[in-house]
Amino acid sequence: MKLRLILALLIIISLAACATTPTGRSQLAFMPDSELDSMGLQAFESIKKEKTISQSVQENQFVRCIVDAITREVGGRWEVLVFEDNTLNAFALPGNKIGVHTGLIDLVDNQDQLASVIGHEIGHVLARHSNERISQKMGAQIGISLIAAVAAPQTPLGQTALSLLGVGAQYGIIMPFSRLHESEADVIGVELIAKAGFNPSESITLWQKMAQASQAQPVEFLSTHPSHATRIDDLQAQMPKAMKIMQQAHAAGKHPNCMK
Ligand SMILES: [Zn+2]
Repeated sequence: MKLRLILALLIIISLAACATTPTGRSQLAFMPDSELDSMGLQAFESIKKEKTISQSVQENQFVRCIVDAITREVGGRWEVLVFEDNTLNAFALPGNKIGVHTGLIDLVDNQDQLASVIGHEIGHVLARHSNERISQKMGAQIGISLIAAVAAPQTPLGQTALSLLGVGAQYGIIMPFSRLHESEADVIGVELIAKAGFNPSESITLWQKMAQASQAQPVEFLSTHPSHATRIDDLQAQMPKAMKIMQQAHAAGKHPNCMK
């Protein structure tokens, strides 16, 4: 019995040691990615049923143009929808699903600011943060049952599943990403949008705008993506490298031109 337990632990540890994020950090993420993808798809279906999808050609083209430019650097097929919702929010789910609220489109001044948010969200997906959250907070057994629960967002387990995916706010449960996950998504996101030819320095303006908006009313995005005191400083420290990446992208002919 004891030997089996030790063997099981060794397997988990060795699997965990294999997993590394795009920044090179090793992580504990033992859920199969295919299962996380199904959770993401299911969560996206639930959100689609509850929200109104924007039919505005202008809004859809603006968002699609940004997502296409960013995901070209990542590969894979990504679905994006614009939701009629005044709250400031956007999200990306495992399985390559992206949602952007019209409130956030109204807030941003330009393509680079919205690219900053979408890049950050894609950063969470690429670094498998949902998988890591489930692996850290749940046992493997509960982890598996979460997959089924996501189809029933009205149940407590379903709400937990959705909050671990980062889309719990609309179901009443908020589970903020950790500071480590936030910083990592910032690093990945900024580099990604620079590679696509967007201006990464607009990410700083964007976070400032978010902070300003949160003084008037709670910002949904900040409830799941809390800002910390050194976020702006960290981003500023990243800028010299990021601007260089953007210049290389421009030299390679990447000039995204997404009009709001
Ligand atoms: Zn985040």
